[in-house]
Amino acid sequence: MQPHPDPFRLDGQRALITGSVRGIGLTLARGLATAGASVIINGRHRAAAEDVCATLRAEGIRADCSVFDVAEHSEVASAIAAVEQELGAIDILVNNAGIQHRATLEEFTPQDWQRLMRTNLDGVFNVSQAVARHMIGRGRGKIINIGSVQSELARPTIAPYAASKGAVRMLTRGMCADWARHGLQINGLAPGYFQTELNRALVQDAEFSRWLCQRTPAGRWGKVEELCGAAVFLASRAADFVNGQMLYVDGGLTSVV
Ligand code: NDP
Repeated sequence: MQPHPDPFRLDGQRALITGSVRGIGLTLARGLATAGASVIINGRHRAAAEDVCATLRAEGIRADCSVFDVAEHSEVASAIAAVEQELGAIDILVNNAGIQHRATLEEFTPQDWQRLMRTNLDGVFNVSQAVARHMIGRGRGKIINIGSVQSELARPTIAPYAASKGAVRMLTRGMCADWARHGLQINGLAPGYFQTELNRALVQDAEFSRWLCQRTPAGRWGKVEELCGAAVFLASRAADFVNGQMLYVDGGLTSVV
């Protein structure tokens, strides 16, 4: 078989990116669109999602929005059914929506634990299940789960977040176990430290920044655009035999102590 002349193009593909009204999700939406995909923007607030869609369309990107809370199983199922019926097949799903909450374990409230798990872990299950049921019928589809360096490493005050992202790593492998035979590729993309709203507390902490730059072999924070190439790769035919893997885009952080 001849190699495809341009295995990274996503023309004609439709990508749903959860939690894409800002931050990494919005950047990944732009990245996938640059490779040719049309995108579906998601968040919990209609006005914000529609504003982002309008901005993307003004940039020449084919964008629609679907407003739902990833933590709500039945709301997700109806929203995905509506997208599939009204817009068409979802070829690529990026499970990006996620939250952080910082407190030591002895102080962490059960309410905050549940809110975090429901978004970071239940959300990945809810949206993947709803989308995969359609993908399985078509015998193809790409799912990219956004993990973290905390899929591997813990830090003080974010143990529940690390637990949720470690679980996302295993859920990625489990999806591969159940769905690879149906023609789906499910992989994880695990960012290091990037300056977004979620990390505002760290960005404003000069001591943390100094520590991070020393701890990261690349010697700096990541730039969100640097995640796009990895996402395009995992969403593309170039990754048709890559399954159940986590791709760390972290300046080398998880490779060294
Ligand atoms: P942001 O806080 O900047 O953005 C989070 C996005 O998720 C927003 O669009 C938000 O929209 C949406 N969201 C939150 N809760 C829900 C929900 N229940 N349903 C639907 N959408 C939701 O975060 P980042 O861009 O920094 O993070 C994105 C992902 O990347 C997360 O999974 C995070 O854990 C991961 N990550 C981030 C790193 C970083 O350095 N920033 C490092 C490693 C991983 P709205 O609130 O309007 O619904």
